[in-house]
Parts: sequence; C-alpha cells; structure tokens
Amino acid sequence: MNIILLGPPGAGKGTQAQLLQEKFGLIKLSTGDMLREVIKQDNPLSKRIKDIMNAGQLVPDDVIIAMIADRIVQGDIQNGFILDGFPRTVAQAEALDVMLRRLDKKLDAVIELQVDDAALIQRIAGRFTCAKCNVGYNKTLNPPAQEGVCDQCGSTEFTFRDDDKAETVASRLKTYHAQTAPLLPYYQEKGILVSVDGMKEVDEVWHAINELLQSQSNLLT
Ligand code: ADP
Ligand code: ZN
Repeated sequence: MNIILLGPPGAGKGTQAQLLQEKFGLIKLSTGDMLREVIKQDNPLSKRIKDIMNAGQLVPDDVIIAMIADRIVQGDIQNGFILDGFPRTVAQAEALDVMLRRLDKKLDAVIELQVDDAALIQRIAGRFTCAKCNVGYNKTLNPPAQEGVCDQCGSTEFTFRDDDKAETVASRLKTYHAQTAPLLPYYQEKGILVSVDGMKEVDEVWHAINELLQSQSNLLT
C-alpha cells in the first residue's frame, strides 16, 4: 500500500504517518525530516535550504525530486510507503508519477487532512518534539503528563523547529494554499483522493483513516 498524506503545515501528517508506519510496517518518507537532516551540515547548499525553510517557502523542485528519487528506489519500501510532505507542487506530483511508473508501482490513496487555518496556527505555536524518540507535543494542547519529561522515553531534552515561529507559519500557510492545494484537484481527477476531518483528536483521525483504507478496495487485508 502506497499512500500520500496531504494537508497544510500542522495538520497532523507526521503524527498519522508515524502511526501508519508502526501499525502497517509502511515506510515513512518525510521530505521535511530529510531536509532537517541536510541542514545539520554546514555547506552552501544546506545554508540555502535553511534560509528557504525559515522563510516558509519551498525548496526548489529539482532538489526535492532528486532526494525522493534516491530514496524511493531503495529496497525497504517494497511493502509500501507513506509520503509526508511530498509532493508539494504539481511539478513534484508529475515527477512522482514518472518515478512510480518506472518502478511499476502505483499510489493507492491520497489522504487529505482538513484543518482550518486558525487551528493550524494554534497547533504549531507551542509545539515541540522529544530530542530522543521524536514524539511530538504541544505546550497547551498536548503536553507530556509530567512537565519536561517525555511520556514515551523519559528524556528531558526537547527540540523546537526554527520554522515554527509565528512569522514563518503565516508564510508556510500562504505557500500551502498557493502551491500545494492545487494537488487536491490533481489527485481528485485520478480518483484516489480521500478527505478526513483533521480537526478531531489524533485517535479519531487515525480511526477515520483506517475506515477509509478498509473501504478502499480492502487495502488493509
Ligand atoms: P510542515 O508540513 O509542518 O510545513 P515539513 O517538515 O513537511 O513541515 O516541511 C518543512 C519545510 O521544509 C517546508 O516549509 C519547506 O520549506 C521544506 N519542504 C519540505 N518538503 C518539501 C517539498 N516537498 N518541496 C519543497 N519544500 C519542502
Ligand atoms: Zn521521547
């Protein structure tokens, strides 16, 4: 089963992708995570990418497409993959179609997580991640049971994303509406787009995704 998770920043793509990975053994391919690894290095390309990300803009298609093309040919995705954060432009979607055709693979579903902008801003403000196990939290909406201690692994170190600053978030939302939202009609036309209410709690969204996948030609059997 090969799935794309589509939706604005803060919609919960990463959280649901993680669940799909754990429950179904699918491999999560997140261009955002890949880029955050790249910008840990210190070279001219990584510096340029960092500036683009902190401005809330998109990294050029050729860079992103090359990154995914390298990843998607690796053997571990045989059981299926979840794309989180890719494609983000129609050009990326077209490049993905070409890659999949070459690999004799297809997309089974594109799952849109619908969340309105006001909720996104609230979710992104105050979100942080465990530095050790990567599980995500939010200061007001979803704090760890014990302040400053990760529920999952007990770590007391957390990281914040540079691009989660209020100024950058507004720009990321604008970018989403202008450049990524056109993918909705793109996949609608292919008949593989399904939409889920992303305003609900994590486990309700997860439940809705499961129901959808089940009803879609028994993808889970
Ligand atoms: P979110 O979905 O919360 O915005 P991501 O981690 O997916 O977070 O992306 C963070 C940033 O990385 C984006 O704002 C963008 O600058 C860059 N990025 C990630 N994926 C892509 C992509 N497919 N194309 C262009 N830029 C990307
Ligand atoms: Zn942890």
